[in-house]
Amino acid sequence: MRFKDRVALVTGGGRGIGAATAQLFAREGAKVAVSDLDEGPAREVAVPISGLPIACDVSDRGQVERMVERTVKELGRLDILVTCAGVIRDNLLFKMTDEDWDTVIDTHLKGTFLCAREAQKHMVEQKYGKMVFLSSTSALGNRGQANYSAAKAGLQGMARTLAIELGSFNVNVNTVAPGFVETRMTRATAERMGVDYEAFKLGAASQIPLRRVGQPEDIASVIAFLCSDESSFVSGQTVYVRGGP
Ligand code: NAP
Repeated sequence: MRFKDRVALVTGGGRGIGAATAQLFAREGAKVAVSDLDEGPAREVAVPISGLPIACDVSDRGQVERMVERTVKELGRLDILVTCAGVIRDNLLFKMTDEDWDTVIDTHLKGTFLCAREAQKHMVEQKYGKMVFLSSTSALGNRGQANYSAAKAGLQGMARTLAIELGSFNVNVNTVAPGFVETRMTRATAERMGVDYEAFKLGAASQIPLRRVGQPEDIASVIAFLCSDESSFVSGQTVYVRGGP
């Protein structure tokens, strides 16, 4: 019960890594606001864990303000923010449209900025807070992902900066950078490439030292560690969770 009496807000909580994180927080005693673009997936995850489902497009300032306000009003406070909301719009540079760029940057980078700015108001006041942003191994460079890798590298810089700015208020800010994880996102990549998903996973696993792809729970457990008081002297770090170095 590491999160007893804590309130967590997870964006992109209706699916994949966000859903596994929300479920783990709830199992360990937290009250959880499960936010997603659409109410349906948010509700599907929130209801069984007695959480609060919130529909929110994280790239929209007004919606983010209302999401944080509702969380605090209905669950009493805000201790933990995990930003999992994400999209991919992969394309080689010469085919990447302005819209592909803007959608990815707005969701990951601006979305996390808006959520963090709202969340810090409450965390600074109570002198307690944990933020974890979802980065990716793509931050190190990945063919066809100029938009996504720029956003994911940007999140690492943002986390380091916020760790410096918010440290004196006892707020920890870190990023987790997964490799290949079995979710709708990697399924969509296989579909786009016209590759069978099972074959796609096998191919990815053969390149990973631990010889398997990640599951959402593999990432959720590291996020939970960084949101717990066991890691209270860890801030501004990126933890790569990809089955190898
Ligand atoms: P996922 O299963 O696709 O879940 C992401 C969720 O975010 C979806 O429910 C999606 O809604 C939602 N979303 C998209 N745009 C949004 C917006 N503007 N506002 C609010 N929510 C929005 O993806 P995942 O694999 O769990 O990924 C979670 C995070 O980990 C992402 O940031 C991703 O970039 C990162 N990551 C994933 C992997 C991987 O291999 N899966 C690897 C490295 C990093 P819709 O489904 O309706 O679009």
